[in-house]
Amino acid sequence: MSAPARVVLLVIGNELLNGEVRDSNLFTLARDLTRQGFKVEQAAMVRDDPQAIAALLVTLLKLHPDVIIISGGLGPTADDCTLAAVADALKQPLVEIPTAREMVNQAYSRLLAAGYVPQRGPEEAQRKMARLPLGAKPLLNPVGVAPGVWLEAGATTLICLPGVPEEMEALLEGTVTPQLTARFGQRHWAEHAIIVHCEDEANITKPLQEIAAGYPDIYIKSLAQSFPKSGTPKTANAELRIIVATHAADETQAQQRLKEVRDALQLALSRAGIPVLRTES
Ligand code: ATP
Ligand code: MG
Repeated sequence: MSAPARVVLLVIGNELLNGEVRDSNLFTLARDLTRQGFKVEQAAMVRDDPQAIAALLVTLLKLHPDVIIISGGLGPTADDCTLAAVADALKQPLVEIPTAREMVNQAYSRLLAAGYVPQRGPEEAQRKMARLPLGAKPLLNPVGVAPGVWLEAGATTLICLPGVPEEMEALLEGTVTPQLTARFGQRHWAEHAIIVHCEDEANITKPLQEIAAGYPDIYIKSLAQSFPKSGTPKTANAELRIIVATHAADETQAQQRLKEVRDALQLALSRAGIPVLRTES
């Protein structure tokens, strides 16, 4: 059984680290890629600082992931420095790519025709968005202007996506995920939940450990809830959600494996005196 392709995520933006904008791209990427059968191994967040981005990228490349996806910093403004940082990390020059320039041009034609912009952006700003690290391929941005970028860095596929969530999602769904699954194969992710009545998560430690040891390929996690605030009455229905999930080559295989684990876990929980309220799949 082949392992899922390993993915590392990197989101860029001062506004994220200043707490002005709550990240959503990391969440979307992690959710969608996991459900398409990829394993998201780690993620990082960094400021709009070309040296910091390049240094972090060099470190991440040393992990030899199959895929690195970066979001943010592809636009026309001076703080959008992702591609310069990528070029620096890969020791490649930035070069203007005619197909990327054409994509920017067509994006402006579309936005002008729709009346969303009064005129094309300044020539230099347009050209900036078309300058990519040598060897990179531009990806059409169907919503905004700046193209995405796809390049091969040794054994790692490096993909840069715009920061605007709608643009990032459009490129991810329409182009990146289909190309990645074509490249690494389609695998399946299945997830079941067991909801138990349990006031203290500590009480499910033993049955969870017992089952986890028997099924090392399954992800088992209890999602803790906060205790009631002091002085408030205890909740009658202290529900705790336990997730069991796995990647498998096909849907049926994934579902069968999960059902097996769920049954074993239900048994272990009842033996430990933890009432199972319901299951969800
Ligand atoms: P543009 O071409 O519009 O400049 P960009 O690729 O340069 O896009 P940024 O300038 O980094 O992207 O961000 C554009 C917008 O998207 C900003 O409003 C930013 O706050 C938002 N944004 C960027 N990254 C994220 C993220 N991880 N989660 C949510 N919003 C984000
Ligand atoms: Mg920008």
